Amino acid sequence: MTALVAVPVTLVAAHWTRRGTERAADAAMVAGLGQSEAAVRAARLQGRTGREHALESDRRAACTEFLRAADLLVRTVRELPASPFEARREALDRRVTALIEARAGIAVLGPADVSSRAQDVLKQCMRLERLALRRAVLRSAVDALERHWCRRCNPEVCEDPHHGAAFVAWDLLAGWARLEDEERWEKLDFLEWLLEESRAFTADEVGQILQVADSVAHWDELMGGLVRDPLLERFHAVRDEFADAARGSLTTTAS
Ligand SMILES: [Zn+2]
Repeated sequence: MTALVAVPVTLVAAHWTRRGTERAADAAMVAGLGQSEAAVRAARLQGRTGREHALESDRRAACTEFLRAADLLVRTVRELPASPFEARREALDRRVTALIEARAGIAVLGPADVSSRAQDVLKQCMRLERLALRRAVLRSAVDALERHWCRRCNPEVCEDPHHGAAFVAWDLLAGWARLEDEERWEKLDFLEWLLEESRAFTADEVGQILQVADSVAHWDELMGGLVRDPLLERFHAVRDEFADAARGSLTTTAS
């Protein structure tokens, strides 16, 4: 029983990090590898006395680990706009790998309803992961533009041309998804000029922002807002449902 070979976690992580494309397929594969590890652990449990207690304690640990991994991923997504562009992909991949491994543990240990809630959390996290890099570029741009307004004056009436450009670019980005396609095409050059004129960005950064602005898919989720942030709100909803289900099931089996 114990002769089964567990796939080293570092190997899985290295594989995951190397791959930049076909992320969904990779996720499925890595989850499969992780499950074989968890299966070995589960099999070992069977020989123990008091194995229900052991299972209970393993389930508790698996749920805690999964929540921790999900929360760390979200924290990374939140912090991504403030981190260097080159470091973002790797930071994200590391968190996603840990989350998928934690999810595999729950899939094996169960119970089924907790496992299915975990799947909802994972699904929402994968959506976060897919949007996170574009979101980071956009949010970091918005932050930089806001920093480049003047401290005390009203940006709408300020006469400093760089402050004015920063404000108009900010305004344009905020309403970008609501423009007609044709209008957006016409304004792309204007946006580029404003970004340069704001003096808030390097040439590379201007290029990154224009690349993101090229498609408006999921724009509201990328931008978020002062009051609402639909992407993270949905994450917190499924996360809380999972936490409730996990707490409920552990209390039931303990009594
Ligand atoms: Zn000003």
